[in-house]
Amino acid sequence: MVRTLRNAGFESYLVGGCVRDLLLGHPPKDFDVSTSAHPGEVHDLFRRSRIVGRRFQIVHVRSGREIIEVSTFRGHHSPGFDSDPDTGEGTDAEEEPVERSRQESAVCATSGMLLRDNVFGTVEEDALRRDFTVNGLYYDPDANTVLDFSTGVEDLGARLLRVVGDPAQRFQEDPVRMIRAIRFAAKLDFVIDPFAVAAIARCRHLIEGVAAARMFDEILKLLLTGKGEKTFGLLEHHRIFELLFPATADAIRRVPMQRNLVTGALRNSDDRIARDRPVTPAFLFAALLWPPMVRRMQLLEGKGETPVAALHEASSDVITAQVRLITIPRRFATPMREIWDLQHRLESRRSPLRLVSHPRFRAAYDFLLLREQAGEDLGGAGEWWTRQQAGEEPPLPRSPEAAPARKRRRRRPRGGARSDGG
Ligand code: ATP
Ligand code: MG
Repeated sequence: MVRTLRNAGFESYLVGGCVRDLLLGHPPKDFDVSTSAHPGEVHDLFRRSRIVGRRFQIVHVRSGREIIEVSTFRGHHSPGFDSDPDTGEGTDAEEEPVERSRQESAVCATSGMLLRDNVFGTVEEDALRRDFTVNGLYYDPDANTVLDFSTGVEDLGARLLRVVGDPAQRFQEDPVRMIRAIRFAAKLDFVIDPFAVAAIARCRHLIEGVAAARMFDEILKLLLTGKGEKTFGLLEHHRIFELLFPATADAIRRVPMQRNLVTGALRNSDDRIARDRPVTPAFLFAALLWPPMVRRMQLLEGKGETPVAALHEASSDVITAQVRLITIPRRFATPMREIWDLQHRLESRRSPLRLVSHPRFRAAYDFLLLREQAGEDLGGAGEWWTRQQAGEEPPLPRSPEAAPARKRRRRRPRGGARSDGG
């Protein structure tokens, strides 16, 4: 890939996370290429490629099963990286008041955020717009050398996450960088440079201005890539969690035990990822939003609503408030609500045979266990359902659906129902 570009007369390097991870001795997750070739030129060189992104154009080149992201050197004026190039989602230039600079195509929101970014530059300029020094290393495969235009190699050795340039300014340009700092600190076990820590304390509120769709992608990278529990601790420490999930942070403050549910779900996901098992955002969001949902539900029940009505209303209220900050795509919101809905039925142990065949049963059952592990007293419901699935527990006679179902009763292997939870 790099060679093809070079043979065509363009400068090109491996860059970013892959170089960093290789130098740290970790297997890189994916490969990014940085080149002097413009997106159109890259596209012309590789048959299996497409240009993605509106504000920040990059080229996805397919290589075997992998997709390699090829980006063009950007000028110093263009921090870039301010949207997800894949979806082109994010803060849209059209949605915000913008002021267009005369000669360049970079567009600045009045808030100081860079919105559009296609100013091309040299490799050195490209290095300066990268977020952290350890992410700004360029590998030249021909010379087998690493180009470092700041202090990346040194910081890598010191396990220090240092912002390229002035931290406060870089965080103002793109507040997501603060979240990335937390992510890399947790993932790499690096210390965040004290200047950056101080800038986070001053700039962290800007995170509220990041587009909800982009935040969703960031949240998944933060919490569902194997270091969720540790990341959560850091998010709390830097007082960022309360900006991302304000209702949850508030509910945890009031009922500290609820924190166990969140950490338990994250630990669960971390374990599953370590064992190469699938994880779903639905389960994680169910846990993250459970504390405020319960609080709201109790409030509504106190006003005389039935438990079922209160649950539905509380679910809607909590989700509506949360999606203003972080999008929860319907494909995750729906199963999340189902996990919540089923809690009530699992607790009351009604119609077990019908319930175990519910597509969301396994996730809901895992969630029930998680609640018990977090310290909720559910009268042994988790244990009861465990035995139920092993065929050791006869369905409760008072269950209306139990009678006809009993005739069809057959043994269901433990864990036989498909799990997509936790
Ligand atoms: P990971 O291993 O998680 O993929 P990464 O460092 O490769 O880590 P990416 O999100 O894939 O992270 O981004 C690739 C590179 O692009 C980064 O290493 C960094 O140089 C640059 N980059 C990404 N996002 C930003 C940003 N918001 N601001 C500045 N530079 C960024
Ligand atoms: Mg990467």
